[in-house]
Amino acid sequence: ITISDLRKVYRQGNNDVVALDGVSLEVPTGKIHGIVGHSGAGKSTLVRCLTLLDQPTSGTVAVNGKELTNVSDDELRNARRRIGMVFQHANLFDSRTTEQNIAYPLELVGTPKKDVAKKVSELLELVGLTQFAKGYPSQLSGGQRQRVGIARALATDPDVLLCDEPTSALDPQTTNEILELVKELRNRLNITVLIITHEMHVVKQACDSVSLLEAGKIVEHGDIEAVITNP
Ligand code: ADP
Ligand code: ADP
Repeated sequence: ITISDLRKVYRQGNNDVVALDGVSLEVPTGKIHGIVGHSGAGKSTLVRCLTLLDQPTSGTVAVNGKELTNVSDDELRNARRRIGMVFQHANLFDSRTTEQNIAYPLELVGTPKKDVAKKVSELLELVGLTQFAKGYPSQLSGGQRQRVGIARALATDPDVLLCDEPTSALDPQTTNEILELVKELRNRLNITVLIITHEMHVVKQACDSVSLLEAGKIVEHGDIEAVITNP
């Protein structure tokens, strides 16, 4: 994923709020990269720009050399499928079973029923939830719900998994399990992962490299050891 000079300015009355002030970042395929910042640093804005829910004021986002920003409405749907999104609270549909939740993005793009069933069963196995296929979110633990969220994010075979505070609602033990799962999935699928978080310990455990975001700018960037030992 290549993020080039991303800027986002919100207009508030007569004031401009610069939420992203020229963010550039390149994450090689198959790497797990963390973006850490305090509240107000611009993390949510960055997530919205990367998921194409929000238009950046300027700058571009590309995956495998293909630009996602500045595309036509037709191309936008395809562009969105290239980034799978994992949320803090999994955001599952309570009225749908585990397998129906995972199937949802495939149904949205009109995948034939037979192919949906096959893919869902593969994904259930990948995240270790085969026995919970017919269960509802309310019957699952927080960690299991997040596994469903991850499986759903992977349903359309995205190139990038974008995790927004993926463990902030989980206890330390479950956090550990989810981060180990993300690492395992990266190894098996060779997917690029971005983890946006306010928790440095998450980055330490899961990421190959990290960027520190402060007031809309990347103020530090590099391998995990280099950045973390640097006071
Ligand atoms: P974080 O997720 O790191 O807490 P945000 O991206 O939510 O940071 O916010 C970055 C800055 O942009 C903050 O100063 C915030 O108040 C401002 N901001 C975010 N969204 C809006 C908006 N819709 N309108 C105006 N200002 C916004
Ligand atoms: P987070 O928990 O990610 O830090 P925030 O509290 O920063 O969330 O933002 C929550 C929502 O409020 C976001 O959609 C953001 O765009 C919006 N928001 C944040 N700051 C402002 C602001 N100053 N004016 C308007 N909307 C804002």
